[in-house]
Amino acid sequence: MIRVMIYNEYLHEQTEEKIRAIYPDGIHGQLKKALAADDLQIRTVTLQDLPQGLSKEVLDETDVLLWWGHMGHQKVPDETVDLVKQAVLDGMGMVFLHSGHHSKPFRALMGTSGNLTWREDGDRALVWTITPSHPIAQGIGRFILIDHEETYGEPFVVPEPEETVFITNYSGGEVFRSGMTWKRGNGKIFYFQPGHESFPIYYHPDVIKVIRNAIHWANPVCRTEITCPHVKKPLEGNADETV
Ligand code: ZN
Repeated sequence: MIRVMIYNEYLHEQTEEKIRAIYPDGIHGQLKKALAADDLQIRTVTLQDLPQGLSKEVLDETDVLLWWGHMGHQKVPDETVDLVKQAVLDGMGMVFLHSGHHSKPFRALMGTSGNLTWREDGDRALVWTITPSHPIAQGIGRFILIDHEETYGEPFVVPEPEETVFITNYSGGEVFRSGMTWKRGNGKIFYFQPGHESFPIYYHPDVIKVIRNAIHWANPVCRTEITCPHVKKPLEGNADETV
């Protein structure tokens, strides 16, 4: 059983009728419903619940954290960012969705601005699978067709990824590395672009399949802090020395 926590700031859905019509239970509610599976135990948390909703105790009981944020990035408490970053370094998996590229935890884990170019014209997006052997791409064909999506474009200011799984091209001409993986400490991180709030993208079966695959891929193999011990003697000639 993988313990999943979905963070959604839950602001657009409460303030804009058009967005609420698409996600009456919030983006987190739709993701929880669409991702439901026997091997996933899914909880949700919103900006209003912070910082208690993502306390150390809660994160200790989270194997993989999903993050959807946009207009409320700056309202996320710094103490939450520090706890999330440490949890990832210790092994918690993390999936950043769409505008999560500008969230405080993403920038803290990447060490870069997360900047990119963007347009909101409802372009057609083709999410091309460029690493079909990757676990996150299993069950996905050559591409995912998304009828309308916010356009993101390069340059996307992130460190060189461990692997690029998807690249999206938009009807306006832009290209964007839309699915990338990194490791930080013991933790695995996946960024996935689809999911602008004004289009029903989290109802798309292939988008959900990718996120579900990413949860399984990011599920920690081990969860332990990598510390910095001072080892006073060399191991050779001191076989009894275990620390
Ligand atoms: Zn957006």
